Amino acid sequence: MDYQELGVTYTREDIILILKQNLSQKRFDHVLRVEQTALVLAEQYQIDKKIVSLTALLHDYGKERADEEYLALIAKNPKYHDLTPYGNNIWHGFLGALIVRDELKIYDERILHAIQVHTTGSIEMNLLDKIIFIADYIEPGRDFPGVETARKLAYSGKLDDAIIFALTQTLQFLITKKQIVYPYTIEVYNYWITKKEREEHNDK
Ligand code: GDP
Ligand code: FE
Ligand code: FE
Repeated sequence: MDYQELGVTYTREDIILILKQNLSQKRFDHVLRVEQTALVLAEQYQIDKKIVSLTALLHDYGKERADEEYLALIAKNPKYHDLTPYGNNIWHGFLGALIVRDELKIYDERILHAIQVHTTGSIEMNLLDKIIFIADYIEPGRDFPGVETARKLAYSGKLDDAIIFALTQTLQFLITKKQIVYPYTIEVYNYWITKKEREEHNDK
């Protein structure tokens, strides 16, 4: 597979080699499973498979960088200052997209945005954002309570319900584990948990 129509000269084989150099075997395998899952969803929800493949492959590209590298990126980009206390879980999406852009010269904003929000989700997700977010959550290597429910929703045409389910589960999980919650994670939860009410209201 090539990604020329996305303005990317790397082939899929090139990207695979780059990933092998940047990721542990465990994360590399996860990334391939996210790609396969995302491609199934791409077929089901009718979206271009090339952009889905490339975004899925790159979504965790920056995940294994040292904290110092992220803190240096924050120092260089003051608009990301508020990310400082939240650690790798939050950095590798929002700042991982900058690493992908600058190291791999990938400038397609759709790809970069989906990478940015793949951990927290976002307000107003487009179809690519949703597919990457959910594929990451339900890939076959995931094994946590509720993952089957999320899979059923995603594979039965209820992508938005799968997202609401995942956002709710993740927030519950973080609080149960007494982990720090990035405020945007809560904003996104609030937006999605009230989305249906808003839509019903607007229909009247
Ligand atoms: P992964 O990179 O494939 O492991 O998956 P994700 O990028 O989706 O998530 C990485 C981790 O971030 C998961 O364990 C999530 O539960 C966690 N996470 C999601 N939102 C937040 C948040 O607001 N704060 C913190 N500390 N962790 C979060
Ligand atoms: Fe991730
Ligand atoms: Fe991931």
